[in-house]
Amino acid sequence: MRKDHYARFDGIVLFTRKYKENDLLIKIFTKEYGKRMFFVKNIQRQNNSLKEIAFPYMRASFVGTINDQGFSFLNDTGNIQFPKTTIDDIQANAYAAYMTGLTDAAFEDFIQEDKVFDLLWQGLGKIEAGVDPSVVANIFEIQLLPKFGVAPNFLYCAICGQDSGRFDYSMAYAGVLCADHFHMDERRLHWSPRASHFIRMFSQISYDRLGEVNLQVSTKAEIRQALDDLYEEYVGIHLKSRHFISQLETFINPLDDKREKKYDNS
Ligand SMILES: [Zn+2]
Repeated sequence: MRKDHYARFDGIVLFTRKYKENDLLIKIFTKEYGKRMFFVKNIQRQNNSLKEIAFPYMRASFVGTINDQGFSFLNDTGNIQFPKTTIDDIQANAYAAYMTGLTDAAFEDFIQEDKVFDLLWQGLGKIEAGVDPSVVANIFEIQLLPKFGVAPNFLYCAICGQDSGRFDYSMAYAGVLCADHFHMDERRLHWSPRASHFIRMFSQISYDRLGEVNLQVSTKAEIRQALDDLYEEYVGIHLKSRHFISQLETFINPLDDKREKKYDNS
């Protein structure tokens, strides 16, 4: 029985990889068919129109042949959202790479994941539009956690259900504790009130409601540490793109300090 079929679908390029001398493999997260590896022959040939889609973070509609085994194939593209800003900006590029890397790691290929698809599509769009990529990535990391099989409760105290005030995170309760119940877990993570505020907000916000965000460098570092702790405990993968962000953050701090002075109203 023939399993392959010709189809039109939306997709996000996760990464590309050279294959043999002249060919290319493009991993695309398709809305309709999940993540698939596409084979493009003679990518460098002058008239190969697929050359222009061979960029990570690119979002487009595609026409091609979807195979349920082995490689799939591309014939045409349309509605290309080319990630120009993202590719040009080292920081935006690093966070986009981290988001696509997490997407590749979080669940199996071939599985349709509408919600993650929309999240990644919108998130990459926000980065391209110039929203702080670390904030976009934080939201993505938090909202992707369920795909790794974990669903921490960020919204209300695991003991009493309190849903406003100050919170800290407890691994033992797989969720937040209110200040009245901090004593229930001596090994709670000691999130700062600011980190806890933003993580709880990021767990709920949708990208279309996300406007201009200016966080202090120290707040960003606290959120980063908190999310690293969660990922270390619950996910345990170590992506090269994540390591690169650490190096980048050390490198760009002097610049951010100037920005912080400008926006610091406290
Ligand atoms: Zn409580």
